Amino acid sequence: MTLMETLTKVDLYSMLPDELISYFASIGEPKYRAAQVFSRLHRGEKIEEITSLSKQLRERLRTECLDTLPVVCEKLVSKIDGTIKYLFRLHDGSCIESVLMRYKHGNSLCISSQVGCLMGCKFCASTIGGKVRDLLPSELLGQIIATERDTGERVSNIVMMGIGEPLDNFDNVIKFLQLVNHKDGLNIGYRHISLSTCGVVTGIQRLKNYDLPITLSISLHASNDAKRSEIMPINKKWNISSLLAACVDYYKVTGRRISFEYTLISGKNDSSADARALGELLKGAFRGTGAPLHVNLIRVNEVKETGFKRGSAEEVNAFAKVLSDMGVVATVRRRLGADVNAACGQLRRSNMNKNEEKEGKN
Ligand code: SAH
Repeated sequence: MTLMETLTKVDLYSMLPDELISYFASIGEPKYRAAQVFSRLHRGEKIEEITSLSKQLRERLRTECLDTLPVVCEKLVSKIDGTIKYLFRLHDGSCIESVLMRYKHGNSLCISSQVGCLMGCKFCASTIGGKVRDLLPSELLGQIIATERDTGERVSNIVMMGIGEPLDNFDNVIKFLQLVNHKDGLNIGYRHISLSTCGVVTGIQRLKNYDLPITLSISLHASNDAKRSEIMPINKKWNISSLLAACVDYYKVTGRRISFEYTLISGKNDSSADARALGELLKGAFRGTGAPLHVNLIRVNEVKETGFKRGSAEEVNAFAKVLSDMGVVATVRRRLGADVNAACGQLRRSNMNKNEEKEGKN
């Protein structure tokens, strides 16, 4: 599909019921079509399957509308815990990843927000080829609908921690949140949604004003500017103190606890001095606010291109203990789907490499 077609076609899955009402009015259809189509599309029926619409109307919608539902291109199922890693293909041939994790409290889907990423974090596979484009609201939502269609199971929690930087695709992410939360659609509560950012301060400031009870996660990964700038270029634009100031402000306005992500890279940021510095930094920034402090520790997933090394389980536990002893809650992220869970972005990259090899041979 060309960009022109994308721009001229109607993006049904990105529309809220009011927008669908206007669209259906513009093609001479009654108002009630909007509610009918919205709930059925969001629950996984495709246009051609909604038989309560006339054949003629289905045909018209099929040709006039963009088919933004991602298609399963590859699917890896963990033999250990049933985690599913999807490589989805989009209507323009781009690929993204989503991961379905199964917990006692329900299914959680980690979704991508962009094709590729502009942020350049040194340990991350998603950013290696740069950003190709933003995902449409329909494509953010589509990852959930396609997963529910594929598994026949309901997704109850969403984590925006896949490929891309959600706050670099701000408007589409906000629209997605409204769509996924809508009572006539998937009806997923904001409290069941987490959004992770590498620290786009203007985005955090804008998000604060929407006052949505989602959980904001900050990928911190270092406790001083020299180390953070070395692994996360965004830190040169917004340093740690401006990032934490935005976080404190966010907490004061929304009352929502912020979760800090800290990826341990062997020999770079994982010493006990690093742990103490992290604890002091967070306690200092949030002093007097009453905010509970929570750090999620993750051992880095090794990515061939980056050369960063993963430390041992004992090292991460020792790091966690230093933080807990300082009164900062630290949880070590359980690694689900260890047999399928290559670092985020690696499945897409290996698929790109395969395609390049094929093209090279022709
Ligand atoms: N751009 C957003 C969301 C996507 S990344 C963000 O930066 O938060 C989701 C999380 O995975 C981030 O905390 C990111 O720093 C982390 N991450 C990326 N590559 C990783 C790797 N190789 N090993 C461990 N964590 C990684």
